[in-house]
Amino acid sequence: MMGNMFEFRAGEASREAERREQEMLQKAIEESRREADPSQVNPDDMTYEQLLELQESNGGDVSRGLKPAEIMRIPQKVWRSKADPTKTPDQCTVCYDNFKYGEKVKELANCKHTYHSKCIDKWLQNEKRCPVCNQMV
Ligand SMILES: [Zn+2]
Ligand SMILES: [Zn+2]
Repeated sequence: MMGNMFEFRAGEASREAERREQEMLQKAIEESRREADPSQVNPDDMTYEQLLELQESNGGDVSRGLKPAEIMRIPQKVWRSKADPTKTPDQCTVCYDNFKYGEKVKELANCKHTYHSKCIDKWLQNEKRCPVCNQMV
């Protein structure tokens, strides 16, 4: 009776050890699979740059243009004539219309490109760069 009891326990213990070994083996296989598969990205393993990229692709930066106050700061002029025919274009490259005498225009501070006020105001709500030369406004 005692002998049977011992045998039963010993058998159970060895089965338990076998089961643990199987589990560990299974885990090791799963881990090596995870390392081999690059599509399984764990957010905890991501670098700071990768997280930023993810934020941007999720539309983190919604308003890309200038703020209304910044657009207002660009000085407005009244178009009279070409001040310097070699440098100043007489065409608004947003609407492709020539400037007419007395029209309100704005000259960008950095690149000196000139546009109708209404044209460049609208443009700058979505962009921070000059439509012609891509310089920052
Ligand atoms: Zn225009
Ligand atoms: Zn420009």
